[in-house]
Amino acid sequence: MHKITLIPGDGIGPSVVEAAVHVLEASGQKFAWDEQLAGEIALRKRGSQIPEEAMESIRKNRLVLKGPLTTPVGGGFRSVNVQLRQEFKLYANVRPAVTFEGLKTRFENVDIVLIRENTEGLYSGIEHNIDVEGETIAAESIALITRKGSENVCRYAFEYARKHGRKKVTAVHKANILKCTTGMFLAIAREMAKEYPEIEFNDRIIDACAMRLVMDPEDFDVIVTTNLFGDILSDLTAGLVGGLGLTPGANIGDDAAIFEAVHGSAPDIAGKNIANPTAVIMAGVMMLDHLGEHEAARTIDRAVRSVIAEGKCVTPDLNPDAKCGTREMTAEIIARLGQV
Ligand code: NAD
Repeated sequence: MHKITLIPGDGIGPSVVEAAVHVLEASGQKFAWDEQLAGEIALRKRGSQIPEEAMESIRKNRLVLKGPLTTPVGGGFRSVNVQLRQEFKLYANVRPAVTFEGLKTRFENVDIVLIRENTEGLYSGIEHNIDVEGETIAAESIALITRKGSENVCRYAFEYARKHGRKKVTAVHKANILKCTTGMFLAIAREMAKEYPEIEFNDRIIDACAMRLVMDPEDFDVIVTTNLFGDILSDLTAGLVGGLGLTPGANIGDDAAIFEAVHGSAPDIAGKNIANPTAVIMAGVMMLDHLGEHEAARTIDRAVRSVIAEGKCVTPDLNPDAKCGTREMTAEIIARLGQV
């Protein structure tokens, strides 16, 4: 029995998390879900966007399957996602983007694992306005990058590449301009690469990397980068394989992990039964792999890919003519478990 803290989250979160729970349970694995509120819904119902019961549950279970949480743009409360990643020292955010066979996209052979530093950089939360006579005349954010944080995520990326038989690691940075912060990150990645002679290593400046990714994504294998660059590039890599409805992510630390989609709470499509459940289901697949349940993980992965390849019962983001919603697509995936 796997004990998991389950956070349905905001917007489309509850519907896609429910879909993932149904698929995971239908795979034959046994779960004890501890459902907890977080995000905007928790603020409304409990007066805190991350209530103490939710924190306690995560401290106890150390494994979380989570829906997206809404964060107000500009003002308002601080991102709960960032708080959770910092609190539980989830230093590596692993975001794979792998081509779905049969899905019409510009590229056919994308297989990129983006590993993003998850607790530091411009997301450190060191930010303030500079006010003069009641008027904000400037604002300052500090991108704190530590040797330890950079070593942790680079080590994770090289070990990931070794464990999964990956051929290449690319460090992405802006060390020509941000010489101290991303310069240190690059120097650490370069030095560490020498310990992994079987893995090809190169580096790319973020802007050139963005261009290369949309022109020649097959040239990339594992990418390791700092927090903000990784956040942006992982939406880009999601776009390469068919969009945000498809790509999962795992926030990994030494003694806790949170599995979720790359996408957010998508308020524009919430409550319409049209959100693609694939990303959170695939986050569940990553969670099963993390638990060592590889057979169940492959069974779900094959069923999802088969439903998408056929294209008949998928959500409108993948095929607007399919006339299928979140619930129908989920039922189709469950029907295929063990059949493909
Ligand atoms: P978003 O990812 O929610 O949506 C971007 C676009 O992708 C929208 O058009 C949306 O309809 C579409 N989309 C997203 N998921 C989809 C799915 N499963 N199926 C089909 N289409 C999908 O990004 P946003 O609109 O910039 O952010 C909305 C909120 O989510 C913000 O408050 C943001 O802070 C939050 N957010 C949370 C997380 C997280 O909890 N990990 C991640 C990103 C954004």
